[in-house]
Amino acid sequence: MTSTIGILGGGQLARMLAQAGRPMGLKFVFLDPAKDACAAEFGEHICADWDDEAALRKLGQRSAVVTFDFENIPGSSASLIESLCPVYPPPRALYKSQDRLREKTMMQKLGIPVAPFHAVNSRPDLIAAVEDIGLPCVLKTRRFGYDGKGQMVLRFQEDMERAWQIHGEHELICEGFVPFDAECSIIAARGKDGQTVYWPLTRNLHREGILAISMVPAFESQLQASAEVLIQRLLDHLDYTGVMTLELFLKDGELLANEFAPRVHNSGHWTINGARTSQFENHLRAICGLPLGETKNNLCALMFNLLGQMPEHPSQQDEDQHTLQGIHWHDYQKVARAGRKIGHVTVTAGSEAELWARAMQLAAELGVNQELNLDAVMQGMSGLRL
Ligand code: AMP
Repeated sequence: MTSTIGILGGGQLARMLAQAGRPMGLKFVFLDPAKDACAAEFGEHICADWDDEAALRKLGQRSAVVTFDFENIPGSSASLIESLCPVYPPPRALYKSQDRLREKTMMQKLGIPVAPFHAVNSRPDLIAAVEDIGLPCVLKTRRFGYDGKGQMVLRFQEDMERAWQIHGEHELICEGFVPFDAECSIIAARGKDGQTVYWPLTRNLHREGILAISMVPAFESQLQASAEVLIQRLLDHLDYTGVMTLELFLKDGELLANEFAPRVHNSGHWTINGARTSQFENHLRAICGLPLGETKNNLCALMFNLLGQMPEHPSQQDEDQHTLQGIHWHDYQKVARAGRKIGHVTVTAGSEAELWARAMQLAAELGVNQELNLDAVMQGMSGLRL
């Protein structure tokens, strides 16, 4: 009998999970309040709110296992589904990731280095936090922040009042500003039996809080090993099943954790075309109790996020993805909107020199070479090979 996977969420991550799972003989059912959820063409779409009991029951009853493609699902919804069928990753991981204070406190307890932080619930709290941490620092909402939303860098004393005016009605966390040398992420998959595999540590570049590019290989094995130790602590502590991502800052050769995501991640999209097994396939393997696939990168890879509107690209009829000399387009078939993640393109090559040549050419074609300053990124890479 074909297994059906339920997914809370029907965005591009759910879509790519389904694209990976269909060849494995899996079927999909998505719960998402958006009428135009872009995963819907790959399975059944239950169009309902996250806390719609009847809809949650329907999802639980139809699925062999349920997973999710974003974090802000009410805990009570996950619990309701858990009474009907297994939910992976464990809702406890979801709970920890939903609140930056809970998350950072857990990481600190597990000995995972993080920037100094304080909870902020009042103006005096903010003044005390800034006094202790020093300027610059970052004020963030504890919940519902993503892609740099709900946060503000405080550089001067005067910024405090302005930040309070904007964010003061929310529960907040104030953290030290990390003047990082690079940002990176480690993605791991853990099976039900505890078997864990890791993809190569990926270097990430953000623009205005949103991921712009991800690339591998980017770091030497020593740093890879350190990152694996850190994520392993989270995986074991949470008795985790599925794919997890840990976002990290690199500063003076040391790794500091920023946040973890209990799901497949934008910085792992390159694995579809560049690794032996993608993050999407291994997430499904893990939650279905199947052995995990190898994660080694076959190729050098660089992914550009496509925001707002899909650029012109040579397309093949009836396919949303094509390969042309190591250029892999992924169109999520979403309606264009300023700043919206609507697709990505991954460049792959057998050598780093070839990768950069292709990436530079593509960046010029996409009109993002100046904005991303890839020349400087490339030059900076050698200095980061620790
Ligand atoms: P987040 O929503 O926490 O993932 O933050 C989005 C982006 O903001 C990160 O990828 C960093 O580029 C930047 N950022 C967040 N927190 C800090 C920090 N404490 N120090 C420096 N940059 C930060």
